[in-house]
This record gives sequence, C-alpha cells and structure tokens, in this order.
Amino acid sequence: MSGAAGFIGSHLCDRLIAEGHAVLGYDNYMTGDARNLQHLEGNPAFEFREWDVCRSFKVDGPVDGVLHLASLASPKDYFEHPIETLDVGSAGTRNMLEIARQHDARFMLTSTSECYGDPLEHPQVETYWGNVNPVGVRSCYDESKRYAEALTMAYHRVHGVRTNIARIFNTYGPRMQLKDGRVVPAFIDQALHGEPMTVFGDGTQTRSFCYVQDLVDGLYRLTLSDERYPVNLGNPLELTILEFAKRIRRLTGTTAQLEFKPLPQDDPKRRQPNIGKARKILGWEPKVSLEDGLKETIDYFQRLPSPALAPS
Ligand code: UDP
Repeated sequence: MSGAAGFIGSHLCDRLIAEGHAVLGYDNYMTGDARNLQHLEGNPAFEFREWDVCRSFKVDGPVDGVLHLASLASPKDYFEHPIETLDVGSAGTRNMLEIARQHDARFMLTSTSECYGDPLEHPQVETYWGNVNPVGVRSCYDESKRYAEALTMAYHRVHGVRTNIARIFNTYGPRMQLKDGRVVPAFIDQALHGEPMTVFGDGTQTRSFCYVQDLVDGLYRLTLSDERYPVNLGNPLELTILEFAKRIRRLTGTTAQLEFKPLPQDDPKRRQPNIGKARKILGWEPKVSLEDGLKETIDYFQRLPSPALAPS
C-alpha cells in the first residue's frame, strides 16, 4: 500500500490486518506521519518502507492486492506542492499499477470527488463528467486524479489488471493532521484554543463529511469487488460550512467567534455524493453519525501530546 502512514492509509492498514492480511506499507512522509503507524511496530503482519512511489521499485514475493493511497490531499498542501501532487498521480500511479501487473494482483486507486470539480450536477453521480478548471490552482490535484483514473482504466483495458477506483468525498476522523488546513482539523483546533474559526467565503458552500471508519469499510468492500468503473464513497449528509462550524462550536463548548476569510479560487460551491451505486454493488453505506464521529475526532485531538495542542 502506498500512503500507508497517511490519515486514511493507516486506518486501512488496521482494517486489512484485522481481516487477516499481511500489509507492506510505503510512505515518503511528505504528508504522512510515522505516529499513525506506531501501534503496528513489531506486528508480524505489517512491514514498512520509507519510499517515494514516484520512483520505480520492485516487490519480492507474492502480492494479492496493490492499494494506491499516496497523494497530497489537503488544498493547503497541494497549493504549496503542485508538482509533487501531479507526480504522485502520474508517475506514482504508473509505478503502483506496474507492481499490480507484474504480480497479477488486484489494484485499487483512491481517487476523489474533486474529479467533479465545481459540480454543475447535484448530488454527484459517478456518470457525471465534472466541471474542472484545467489550469486553476486546484488543477494539480483534480487533473492528477483524473489522469490517474484514466491510467487505471488503460491498465485494465490493455493489461487486464483487475482494477477498482474509489472516488472519496470529504472524510474526517482521528489521525488527520491538526495543521493540514482542512476544515475539520482547522475548526477543531481553533475551537479548542478559543481562537477565531476561519470561515472561507460566506460559509454557504456545502460539503458532506464521512467518518473514516465508514470510509475504510467502503474501501475494503470495493477492493473485493469486480467493479471497474469509479464508485463514490462518502456520507450524503450535506451541510453548509457555517452549519458545520456551529456543530463544532456546540460539541467543543467553545466561545470562539467566526472570522470570515476570502474563498480560495475554484472552491466547489456544493458537494454531496450520490452513493446509490455503492449501496447496490457493495451493500455499503455510512453508519456513524456526524455527532458521534466529531466527538471521537475532538477527543483524539484533545488527547494528542501537548505540543500539538499548545497555543499557536
Ligand atoms: N474551509 C473553511 N475554513 C477553513 C478551511 C476550509 O471555511 O479553515 C472551507 C473551504 O473553503 C471549503 C470547505 O471548508 O469550502 C472544505 O475545505 P477542505 O479544505 O476541508 O476540503 P475541500 O473540500 O475543499 O477539499
């Protein structure tokens, strides 16, 4: 698995090991964190290699599945590192697909709802082709994932690799990076410090947030399926960012005020997954309520060793 030390990758490692699989994890720690895998140290079912999968590599021994999760995923990170973002979607995906081809293994690409760009269809269904600005600041991520999807389909069509493509919508939970700039850790961090909660734009833009445990369950089911075309994985509960800020204020009991900041370029106005396909072919739907998921996440951030939560 690439991106094994990341937020979603590390949870998927846990799930695979719990299901009885042995996992060989790769990460270059660009946005991943060794602490996300600390609990697996010494576990005979887990091995880790620090490596940038944009550089080609070989794996010895049998491989049943290749899971490609490596990517920058937070807008703040990919605005700062657009070339690395394009590289991991292109060269990184190619190298991971090659491993799958060489070992006759299954392959899963973790793609994104950003493939739909600033969508003109709502909610987003997998057959919608999207509304992406190909040269805007988000294009490094959107086009990198769209290219990765195209490459994955090409490997399936040309080499017969058994591929899956997950289009992941906004996901949150323990092991997110507190300072990665995404709205969930940003609001929780600010609320816990009593600092102004930074709402970008007027806060009427919407997102739909899925708890990581639910998402990982969907990913695991997808890796076992024979569906070759993209499948949306996300929670259909759609909220405005303002409403979301209010929920976090209530759950943390903070007195923090809202502070309005400029909306980043091409920030999607609405996003909500249509998960009919996942329901039908994977028998999957999210189970964890936003309230429960946020409580777990807030609790995780509160329990982090003090430097992470020291006043910033
Ligand atoms: N956002 C915000 N305040 C923040 C960070 C993000 O209002 O401190 C907004 C952002 O503009 C977007 C939404 O929250 O409309 C979700 O942003 P995030 O970076 O979490 O993920 P995205 O869905 O944009 O990839």
